[in-house]
Amino acid sequence: MALIVQKFGGSSVADRDRVFNVARIVAATRKAGNDVVVVVSAQGDTTDDLIAKAAEITSEPSRREMDMLLASGEQISIALLAMALSVLGVQAVSLTGWQAGFITDRAYSKARIRRLDTERVESELARNRVVVVAGFQGMNRLEDITTLGRGGSDTSAVALAAALHADRCQIYTDVEGVYTADPRKVPGARKLEQITFDEMLELASLGAQVLNNRSVELAKKYGVELEVLSSLNPVPGTIVKEVADDMEGMLIKGVAKDTDVAVISIMEVPDVPGMSFKVFGALASRNINVDIILQSTGRGGNKDLIFTVPLGEAENAVEVLKENQPRFGGKEIKVEKNYAKVSVVGAGMQSNPGVASRMFEALFEANVNIHMISTSEIKISVIIDEKEADRAVSAIHGVFIP
Ligand code: ASP
Ligand code: MG
Repeated sequence: MALIVQKFGGSSVADRDRVFNVARIVAATRKAGNDVVVVVSAQGDTTDDLIAKAAEITSEPSRREMDMLLASGEQISIALLAMALSVLGVQAVSLTGWQAGFITDRAYSKARIRRLDTERVESELARNRVVVVAGFQGMNRLEDITTLGRGGSDTSAVALAAALHADRCQIYTDVEGVYTADPRKVPGARKLEQITFDEMLELASLGAQVLNNRSVELAKKYGVELEVLSSLNPVPGTIVKEVADDMEGMLIKGVAKDTDVAVISIMEVPDVPGMSFKVFGALASRNINVDIILQSTGRGGNKDLIFTVPLGEAENAVEVLKENQPRFGGKEIKVEKNYAKVSVVGAGMQSNPGVASRMFEALFEANVNIHMISTSEIKISVIIDEKEADRAVSAIHGVFIP
C-alpha cells in the first residue's frame, strides 16, 4: 500500500461540483488501496476576496490579523471536502494546518515551516481515514495562526510528502502540466513530460505560474518527486524531479516572459574601486532585489552601471540611490519601465554550445533589439522592449521547440 499526497488548488475546489470532482479523484485513489493525505487551497478567489474585505476596513491591517483572516479560506475547503468524501462513502477527517502539526516561525504572512509534527496525521491514517489538511497555514510558538505566503499550499503539500515519506506527491491544478511557453499565447506550446527542479525553479521565477517557487525548493531539498496534473482532465501531467530522463531530447524546456522589470542606469560613475559596492550595498540595505547587472568598460575615467529591479521596487531604488549618490557620484540616474525579460531555460544547454546564438538569431529575424543579456548554466535572458516581448517569445519558441 502506497501513501499518496494530493494537493488541489483553489480553482479545483471552486464550487460544489468541483469539490465533488476532487472527492471522486481522492475516493478512486483510496479505493485503489492507497493511504491518502489531501491538501487543499481556499475555493476560487476566496483569498483575494478576503484581502479585499480587509481593505474595506483599513489600508494597514496588522499581519497577524491578516493571517487570522486568510487562514479561514482553507478551513472552508477542508470541511466541505471531508463532507463530500463522506457522501461518497469514504471515511475522512479534516485538519487545520496547526492540527496537522505545521509549526512555523513568527513571520506572519510569509512564515517558514520550522517543524512538522505528523503524529496526528499518522494516527488518522492508521484509523483508515483520508486526511484532508488545510494548506497555506500553520501556527507559531505563540500559538498564533500564520500563513506561508501566497500560493503556499503547494509548500504545505511538499512538506507533508517529505515528512511522511510519501510515495507520491501529486499537485492537481487547472492546467494539464508544465508547458514550454504560455499555451494561451504561444500556439505551438507543448506539455513537458518531465522537467528538473532547477529548470522548474527558473521557469517559476520567470512567471510560469504553475508551482509556487518555495515548494519546488523544498521538493529539491528533500528529493520529493512532484507530479503536476489537471483535476479536470485525466491525462498524464508533468513530472518534476532532480534529473529528467529527457526522452524527448529537448535542449530547451521553456521560453518565459517576465514584464515585472525596470531598468535603472547610473551614468558616468567614476571608474575607481568600490563604486559597485557602494551602489549595490545601498540597494541591499533596503532589501531591493537586483537581477541583471551590466557595467560598461571605463571611458574618460567614468563607467556606466545598468541593472534591473522588479517594477514595484523601482521608485524605492531610485530614492535610495539619490540619497546615497554623494558616495558614488554619477551624472544621471535613469529608470525605464517598458521592458520585459525573455528567457530560455534548459539543463541541456550546459553541454550544447550554440543556444545563445540561435536565440539571438531568432530575435534578429524577428527584428527585436536586445538591450541587455545575462546567462547562467541553464538559462539565457535578454531584456527587450515590452511591446515586442510576445513576438520574441514566439520567435524563440519556434526555433527551439518545433
Ligand atoms: N489560498 C492561498 C492563496 O491564494 C494559498 C494557495 O492558494 O496556495 O494564495
Ligand atoms: Mg489560491
